Amino acid sequence: MTRFLCRTCGTEYADSGESPPAACAICEDDRQYVPEGGQQWTTLADLRREHRAVLRELEPRLTGIGLEPSFGIGQRALLLESDGGNVLWDCVPLLDEMASFVESRGGLSAIAISHPHYYTTMIEWAHAFDCPVLIHETDREWVMRPDPAVELWSGDVRELAPEAKLLRLGGHFEGGQVLHWTSGADGRGALLSGDIVQVLPGQRRVSFMYSYPMLIPLPAREVERMGGTLEAYEFDRIYGAWWNRVVSAGGNDAVRWAVDRYVRALDREPQDDGPPPPDDDLRVAGVDMAGGGWAVVVLEGSRVVEAFRCETFAEALLLDAAVIAVDIPIGIPEREPREADAEARRFVGPRASSVFMTPIRAALEAETYAEAREIATALTGKSLSAQAYALSRRILEVDEYAARDPRIIEVHPEVSFCELARRPIPSKRRLEGLVERRRLLREEGIEVPESAPRIKEPDLLDATVAAWTARRYARGAAAPLPVTHRERIGAIWR
Ligand SMILES: [Zn+2]
Repeated sequence: MTRFLCRTCGTEYADSGESPPAACAICEDDRQYVPEGGQQWTTLADLRREHRAVLRELEPRLTGIGLEPSFGIGQRALLLESDGGNVLWDCVPLLDEMASFVESRGGLSAIAISHPHYYTTMIEWAHAFDCPVLIHETDREWVMRPDPAVELWSGDVRELAPEAKLLRLGGHFEGGQVLHWTSGADGRGALLSGDIVQVLPGQRRVSFMYSYPMLIPLPAREVERMGGTLEAYEFDRIYGAWWNRVVSAGGNDAVRWAVDRYVRALDREPQDDGPPPPDDDLRVAGVDMAGGGWAVVVLEGSRVVEAFRCETFAEALLLDAAVIAVDIPIGIPEREPREADAEARRFVGPRASSVFMTPIRAALEAETYAEAREIATALTGKSLSAQAYALSRRILEVDEYAARDPRIIEVHPEVSFCELARRPIPSKRRLEGLVERRRLLREEGIEVPESAPRIKEPDLLDATVAAWTARRYARGAAAPLPVTHRERIGAIWR
């Protein structure tokens, strides 16, 4: 017995014996595509060899579940925890690697999928957790592995739990559904939208499409209808289909703006930019060691609203900020070198020497440098530098704060700049390196002030790029080093 999965869309088909189905109906449809070279199939056994599962907490009670490397259309699923029963939103294969995690959160009471491109192995999940898969009846023809677990529903709203409703929104697919979660985003509401409401790069705007591969838009009246349906629901945040597609705030306004712009474009009205996009008031901070103190940069949306120096880390924690990213190791190793440091060194390539290996806790806690050297050598076979020991008090202090304050994450400016540039950049000790760093931030819409009192330019740039990563983290778009790391602490975020 073999069930084949389409490599392009990820859909698992019903048992077809030794040979795969003749074609993938979902990819032959004009909302998907068959790749150059023709239809390709795979099996779960092959997938297990080629991919691994990745879990990432996105906000309290919401965890992203994805594959590394990504598979099919590259979506990540979301596990929404609710007192009325947990929901798996959208789907990815490799259930076996994630089942114990989902089980530990109380299992599943329902699975709901935005549209057929993310069905993948929904039936495997439904069987494992003995729960239904909710699909709107108008999309019944796209279920390629028919099963009693599939529950076709009709109408426009289906309650999943007191705080979670499934809405039939249509658009991309007639049965296209989104999930409205009233307690998401700290009670301001969240929309889990797949790509029925597509979150665009830049993470402030959304749009709609009948076919993404064929670039066929939806009729204006259909987009207006979708916008009208969503007017009845409040949501500040929109989780799109992929890791880096989240509108963190201003969700309702983003939808209104998109509907207006879309309809005007189709009506061939003047192609001006229309009203400004919703202003993002997300506040985050980046903190970098600067001399004996700390350089702090606060971003509100893309604007640098504060840049100052403080003497203690505790002062930085007084800020009103959703995430505080700091350039110092958090999660001190007990015996072994930290994997995060080793991966960060590889990640920055030629800038590897800028990432130091975090000394073990016993060495950092030693009274004197001589004692620290002795302890480190005895326990790890390697000594530590005077420079690393000199930071011990600050490393221990931040580590303690980070254990209690969930806003704090670890970053490394060179890692962040590398992530931003997608290539190694010249050293910040050279003028061209500073100019390049400033330019990279400007391209992200972040204008770094010319100067800030008592902060040197390299520290100002480092604190700003730390804030850039803090913003990505707040939006659920930051990736950890090591890539498979699952907790806030112990990873260098980028
Ligand atoms: Zn397919």
